Amino acid sequence: MAVIGFIGLGHMGGPMAANLVEAGNTVRGFDLDPQILEEARTNGVTPADSVADAAAAADAVVTMLPGGKQVHACYPEVLAAAHPGTLLVDSSTVDVAEARQTHEWAEQAGFGALDAPVSGGTAGAEAGTLTFMVGGSEDDFHRAEQLLGPMARKLIHCGGPGNGQVVKMCNNLILGASMAAVSEAFVLGERLGLPPQALYDVASVSTGQCWALTTNCPEPGMVSTSRADRDYTPGFAASLMVKDLRLAKSAAEQSGAETEIGQLALDLYERFNDTGGGDQDFGAIIKWIRERSEQ
Ligand code: NAD
Repeated sequence: MAVIGFIGLGHMGGPMAANLVEAGNTVRGFDLDPQILEEARTNGVTPADSVADAAAAADAVVTMLPGGKQVHACYPEVLAAAHPGTLLVDSSTVDVAEARQTHEWAEQAGFGALDAPVSGGTAGAEAGTLTFMVGGSEDDFHRAEQLLGPMARKLIHCGGPGNGQVVKMCNNLILGASMAAVSEAFVLGERLGLPPQALYDVASVSTGQCWALTTNCPEPGMVSTSRADRDYTPGFAASLMVKDLRLAKSAAEQSGAETEIGQLALDLYERFNDTGGGDQDFGAIIKWIRERSEQ
């Protein structure tokens, strides 16, 4: 079993690190928030004093931070403290260009590195059933399989450096747009006197079928797995959807791709966020669409 440095023990990193401990690894964790670090200790994580302390003597270092800015702030310390042969895995969701820059720094310093963002939310982090979308070399991917296994249901190698982040943002562009469309469809049906159950029963077995409808339906009472049935507690917070759609927009601008639907979805979620919806599950956008329809 391995010694793993784990940096960022928040909503996702906390339970992910706990699963690594559960699998028999020694996890040396660090978080800027002392209370979060203390919670991690109760899950068997050995608290480190700093990023460098977590990275020193580790076989692998996993970062699970809010964004690219924080990852780039930590990496100089990680690269200076890690011993040769340490595998570096960044599971934070960050900009593709930032991810490729991190790979470049790691390569220049002689380390194997992977970008390995996840989907599955906090429930997947707790259950150890995340999907990891991995960018980097084939060799480093195979080295990481055993390490990531206790946190994962699926590990998918998506190609070279940064490709994990490319897949993550493309997937979330589909998700943001489909959740907005499903929400609009329920509100439109309602305005026309249609019982929501009728729309669900037909669309869930027809061409409108998608995850936003059949697993996280924004209309309450349709499917027991939905956060709508838990008063829209996240799940996947609307503020994180804004973050991911902004990353998709920036990547589209840099690459010249036309992503008008993604931009429309971003505009909707930003406006929902501005009215205070950011802490709710992203499916709560249906409430905002309904309110605006009634004005
Ligand atoms: P979070 O804010 O709960 O956790 C991040 C942690 O990093 C915090 O505890 C913070 O104190 C710590 N931190 C920040 N800067 C630090 C530094 N310099 N050194 C050490 N610790 C530092 O965020 P989260 O919800 O756990 O998300 C983490 C990442 O996972 C994000 O990139 C997010 O986009 C991605 N993600 C989140 C979800 C989700 O449902 N929450 C799902 C998929 C992906």
